[in-house]
Amino acid sequence: MEAIKGIGVSSGIAIGRALKLSEVDGRVQFRTVEAKNVSTEIARMDRCLQEAKDQIVRMRNKITLRGDDSAARIFDFHLELLGDSTLIQPIRDDIQRECVIAEYAVAENFKKFADQLRKMGSEMFVQKAIDVIDLERRVLSHLAGRTTDRLAGVKGPVVVIAHELTPSQTVELHRAHVVAFATDGGGLTGHTSILARALGLPAVVGCTKVTIDVEDGDTLIVDGDGGVVIVRPDDALLARYQLLAREGQQRQRALRSDAGQPSITRDGMPITLLGNIEFPDEIDAVMENGGAGVGLYRTEFLYLASEVAPTEDDHYESYRRAIELSHGRQLIIRTLDLGADKYTQVHLVEAERNPFLGLRSIRFCLANPEMFKTQLRALLRASAHGPIKIMLPLVTHVMELRQTKMILNDLGEELDEENIPFDRNIPIGIMVETPAAALMARVFANEARFLSIGTNDLVQYTLAVDRGNERVAGLYNAANPAVLMLIKSIVRTARHVGIDVSVCGEIAGQPLFIPLLLGMGVRTLSMSPGQIPAVKRVVRGLEIEQCESLARRVGSFDSDRQVLSCLRDELRRIDPEALAGSEGG
Ligand code: PEP
Ligand code: MG
Repeated sequence: MEAIKGIGVSSGIAIGRALKLSEVDGRVQFRTVEAKNVSTEIARMDRCLQEAKDQIVRMRNKITLRGDDSAARIFDFHLELLGDSTLIQPIRDDIQRECVIAEYAVAENFKKFADQLRKMGSEMFVQKAIDVIDLERRVLSHLAGRTTDRLAGVKGPVVVIAHELTPSQTVELHRAHVVAFATDGGGLTGHTSILARALGLPAVVGCTKVTIDVEDGDTLIVDGDGGVVIVRPDDALLARYQLLAREGQQRQRALRSDAGQPSITRDGMPITLLGNIEFPDEIDAVMENGGAGVGLYRTEFLYLASEVAPTEDDHYESYRRAIELSHGRQLIIRTLDLGADKYTQVHLVEAERNPFLGLRSIRFCLANPEMFKTQLRALLRASAHGPIKIMLPLVTHVMELRQTKMILNDLGEELDEENIPFDRNIPIGIMVETPAAALMARVFANEARFLSIGTNDLVQYTLAVDRGNERVAGLYNAANPAVLMLIKSIVRTARHVGIDVSVCGEIAGQPLFIPLLLGMGVRTLSMSPGQIPAVKRVVRGLEIEQCESLARRVGSFDSDRQVLSCLRDELRRIDPEALAGSEGG
């Protein structure tokens, strides 16, 4: 029996058998096979090449039906490459001669080939090198076993163990018998962790070496509240955790049964609780949990869940469905927040050195106007079916807001010419996620219709701590006085100018932070749907005056330790059960 400590990022306890997933991120380790297994290794590689070819043919056919000839030609080129013996034969030779694993031989030879193309100098060959790298990733993913394939045959509850999980792999997990996951890397507000909460999967990340300590088939307990993974537990511990799991489910059911209660403080201040969603169908969960609408729809998951980029109609259908499911309630749709840990890196020949400071979010969209326009046009078309608000992520310069508004105007004129109806008064707001936007909140408040504070990124950029890096997870703390000072000043500015302001980062769903946020003047909070009942219960136990006095006290502290201890004392007084729930994650 062994207990591995990590960061509990998604609440709940789950028990199941370990299933280890290999990683597909291009960092293939040098490993060898025994000489007697070489022919099996070559056969494995041939099978995966064939699977990759079949997959590409399927994608090409799909895209040809849409009439996209240029994309179809790219897939033809990929097929040509997979049939090219000057690329494929050296892979076989390497396995045969050097007894290396297929993954290593593939990675080496594809890289060599891409380098040769790049050295030819012209832009056309550089583009082809990008295709070669893309293809390499595809072949490697088949060698690793696609997540879904790997999960297909398993019976009974499974706990997935991986070095890292990408957001798209995580999306695939909930379609199988997966009851929890644990990873070596990751942090509380990484997108994989956010997805775990959305999917209701208990999860522990940042375990450093869980992939080494756990063997396939081991019995595991994942405690998402305590942030611990127990490997091969004895019977007594197993029984104790089974009991804890049942109690936790009962608590959740009791909280849910109060979901219909009004969200109002004891002294009568209404607080709007909204849901953060990644897929339109989650709107049902927002409503069931007593949410008043959607405060953040992360549309980029449309890209993460599919092998090909979504068309304007794919976007439109998702937004129309979200509008339908919202029944006229608030629905804030965020434009694509791709980049950093989401999607773009795997499509680059060389990953960005500092992806979180790179071409992400609104920057990525403005640098890829055709892609951006596809989404914005779909949003405008969908707006004819019901009220929406559009929110821009990671805005740093006011020009980014202005440029987007100009694109929306042009698209509106286009739609007018085509006699396509749309809402001419869609509120455009921004997320405040960078210190620059926070410090310039007044300028933004004059040009945007609403502000939403994205504390996940605001903490990362204010404290210069990568939100997904387990090595600095201890430094990532929303209770840091510098972060709190920024939040306070954004809220004050928005209220002064008279526009709506909300908080939609993870702290909005953490009972510990609710009294403080209310004390700072926040009246709208947006969180994972499953967190709404516990937050509502805290709200119903508060009085605004107490919260304001707490905020004043907290404002005088100079360390996050002091802040946290004060917030804990306050929550212990109001709702000790909520404190127990918020301690783990
Ligand atoms: C945030 O940064 O707080 C936020 C809500 O956006 P995301 O987590 O999608 O980056
Ligand atoms: Mg963000």
